Amino acid sequence: MRYDTVIIGGGLSALMCGIEVARVGRKVALVATGHSTLHFSSCSFGLYNAKNPLQATSALPAEHPYSKIGVEDVEALAVRATEILNMAGIATVGSAEQSHYIVTPTGKWRECWLSLEGMLTSADGKGVDFSSAAIFYPEGFLDFYTQFIVDHLESCGVKVTTHAFALPELTVRRNNPTEMRSVAVARALDKQENIEALAQIISQNVGSAEAVIMPAVLGFDNLDVRNRLERDVDRQILCVPTLPPSVEGVKAERALRRTFESMGGTIFMAHTAVEYTLEQETITSITTSKGVTLTADDFVLASGSFIGGGLKGDGKRIEEALFGLDTLTPEDGYTTRNIFEAQPFMSCGVVVDNSFKAVKGGKAIENLYACGAVLAAYNPVKEGCGAGVAMLSALKVADDIINR
Ligand SMILES: Cc1cc2nc3c(=O)[nH]c(=O)nc-3n(C[C@H](O)[C@H](O)[C@H](O)COP(=O)(O)OP(=O)(O)OC[C@H]3O[C@@H](n4cnc5c(N)ncnc54)[C@H](O)[C@@H]3O)c2cc1C
Repeated sequence: MRYDTVIIGGGLSALMCGIEVARVGRKVALVATGHSTLHFSSCSFGLYNAKNPLQATSALPAEHPYSKIGVEDVEALAVRATEILNMAGIATVGSAEQSHYIVTPTGKWRECWLSLEGMLTSADGKGVDFSSAAIFYPEGFLDFYTQFIVDHLESCGVKVTTHAFALPELTVRRNNPTEMRSVAVARALDKQENIEALAQIISQNVGSAEAVIMPAVLGFDNLDVRNRLERDVDRQILCVPTLPPSVEGVKAERALRRTFESMGGTIFMAHTAVEYTLEQETITSITTSKGVTLTADDFVLASGSFIGGGLKGDGKRIEEALFGLDTLTPEDGYTTRNIFEAQPFMSCGVVVDNSFKAVKGGKAIENLYACGAVLAAYNPVKEGCGAGVAMLSALKVADDIINR
C-alpha cells in the first residue's frame, strides 16, 4: 500500500504530526502497536517547568529538542498545538508565557502549561477563587484519595465537606473490587439516569459550598456531563485527576484519532512495524507484524520511549527498537543513587539532526524523522516537558515534510 507519509506510533506525537500533515491533503497512514502513554496522563500538558516556560526554553543546550526547533518556532508551534487540541474538542486553558498550577491526585500544586477546562487549578500555586467546597466521590472508588484533596484545599484556606455517593449501577460494580476503576465509573456516568441521580444527590448535599469538587470521571463518550451537572446543581464543578488510567487521557487520544481520521488519515491499529527496507540511504517501506507493507515518501518514528516501546534497554545498552538508530546514552550510568534526582536514562533516546531527521551510523536518513518521547537530550520528568516536546517536535516534523 502506498502513502505520502507513514507514521510509526499512536500517541500524542504521532497523532499531532498525522493531523497536521493530513490536513493539507497528504495521504497519511499511522501504524500503532497499541494505546499510548496518554492513557496514563492527566492531560496537564507541560511545556517546561518554569514560571515563564517560553523564556525557559530559550536558554537550553543546543542538543535539546526545543533548541533544535528554535525559539520563535517554539512559540508559534505552542499556539498551533493548542489550536489543534481545541479543534479536536480538547478544550484547554493556560499560556506558554505563564505557568498555572494544577492539583495532582496526591494533593499538590504542579506547574502546568495547558490543562483541561474544568480542572481544579490555581493561578499562583497558592490559593483558589472559592472559600468553601464540597467533594463528591463514588463510594468504594479505587483511583481517588479524597483525604489528600481535603488536606490540600484546607491548606489553601478552603472549608471542605466530603460526600461519598452511591448509584445502583456502581453499587453492583462494587461486588467486584477491580471494577471500581475510573473508566468504568465514567462509562456509568455517561447515562442519563445516572447523571440525573447524581445531580439530585449533589443538590441535596452541597449546602452553601461555593464549588463542587469531583474526580475526573465525568463521562466517557458523553462529553457534556460536567456542563450538564453544573447547570443542574448551579455550582462550578471542578475535577481532580485520578490515578491512572486517566479518563481524560483516554478521551484525548480518542478525540485526536477521530480528528486524524476525519482528515482522511488511516490507522493500522494493533500493527507493530517490525521490518523496513533501506535503499540508497532512504527508507522505502516498512512491514507490520500482520504482514502489511507500506511504502511512502516520508516516514516518521513516533514510537515513544521505554514505556511506549520505541526504546529498549538491558541496563548496559539502550537501543532504538525498529531501525537500530544511533542513541544517546549516558557516560556515567543510567541511574543515580538518589531517586529524587534527575535520572540519566530519562534523557536517552535517538539522535536527530537539526531537522529531526534520524541518525544511523553517524549519518542522517533523508526521509526518516523522529519526534516525541523517542527523542534524546531532554528529561520529561525533571523538566516537566513531556507533552510539550511530543507536540512541538511533531509539528516541526510535519512542517518539514509539508515544505519539502
Ligand atoms: C505515566 C505518565 C504520565 C505522564 N503525565 C504527563 C503529564 O501530566 N504532562 C505531560 O506533559 N507529560 C506527561 N507524560 C509524558 C507525555 O505523556 C509523553 O511524553 C508523551 O505523551 C509521549 O508521546 P509519544 O507519542 O511520543 O509516545 P507514546 O505515548 O509512548 O506513544 C508511542 C506509541 O508508539 C507505538 N509503538 C511503539 N513502537 C511501535 C512499533 N514498532 N510499531 C507501531 N507502533 C509502535 C505505541 O504502541 C504507542 O502507541 C506522562 C508520561 C507517563 C508515562
